Amino acid sequence: MLDLQSLLNDISQTLSNQTDRGKVADYIPELAKQDNQHFGMAIATIDGQLFSTGDAFEPFSIQSISKVFTLTMALGKIGDKLWERVGREPSGTAFNSIVQLEQERGVPRNPFINAGAIVVSDVVLADHQPKETIGEIVRFIRCLADDDSIMIDEDVAQSEGDTGFRNAALANYMRAFGNLHHPVEETLDVYFHQCAIAMTCVQLARSGLYLANGGMNPLTASKVVPRHRVRRINAIMMTCGHYDGSGEFAFCVGLPGKSGVGGGILVIVPDKAAIAVWSPGLDPNGNSKLGTMALEMLVAKTGWNVFGA
Ligand code: GLN
Repeated sequence: MLDLQSLLNDISQTLSNQTDRGKVADYIPELAKQDNQHFGMAIATIDGQLFSTGDAFEPFSIQSISKVFTLTMALGKIGDKLWERVGREPSGTAFNSIVQLEQERGVPRNPFINAGAIVVSDVVLADHQPKETIGEIVRFIRCLADDDSIMIDEDVAQSEGDTGFRNAALANYMRAFGNLHHPVEETLDVYFHQCAIAMTCVQLARSGLYLANGGMNPLTASKVVPRHRVRRINAIMMTCGHYDGSGEFAFCVGLPGKSGVGGGILVIVPDKAAIAVWSPGLDPNGNSKLGTMALEMLVAKTGWNVFGA
């Protein structure tokens, strides 16, 4: 029998000795304040068990992990029409790169690089006021996690708004190609707020369960998305969820995952569980350094992977 709790304790213990813990994101001033000594991890299983270790109950900025949830919402709103405005190929470039956008005429490579996620936010905005849409996103995530305490960290949202010049450049560029349908400030308002949602590892693992359970949220017994859509969202997480480190993550971990520059990673184990890990120090691709190491240790012991090996 797999003793997941002992396994998490061992991982936490092993990583506590790690001196090279990566570098916290400093291009968003509010995130630069984070302490890279944090480490937390949680596993939620589809049959209702929960295992956690370290700082698993401490909220952190989910950042780009929010893009999984807004992608789910956008597909719910406009279905496959989304793929006319954003691709589904790995980009092979940094998450905030602008170079491909010109060549590809304002259509971003995938929904997880910043440009693609901004298009997705524009779709979710759907002619509403940003405030309403931001509320809709938070309510959706609260339903997924079955937890009404999930909030936006307004200081992080403000900090991103004040310094998000690159994202503003991407948004303006896409607007010039007609691929944003709302004023740039409104779409970015939604994007910055979704990135500033704060969640704990426990909340995040619970919120990912619908993707491990064929589209059905086991916490509330409600259907979130059809099964075929789960397959697609998980595929994009696997191929694009770690930006230019996605190949490496698939190679080393072998499960669909999405990282954020707050140091969180959400991982889906189809038909079994959702895992969230948080450690704010990042590798050069902007993915949590200890988070990735922890996941490698976990899959080595559990044998969890999507390749049947
Ligand atoms: N809010 C961050 C940004 O736009 C998200 C990036 C990330 O988490 N990779 O730069």
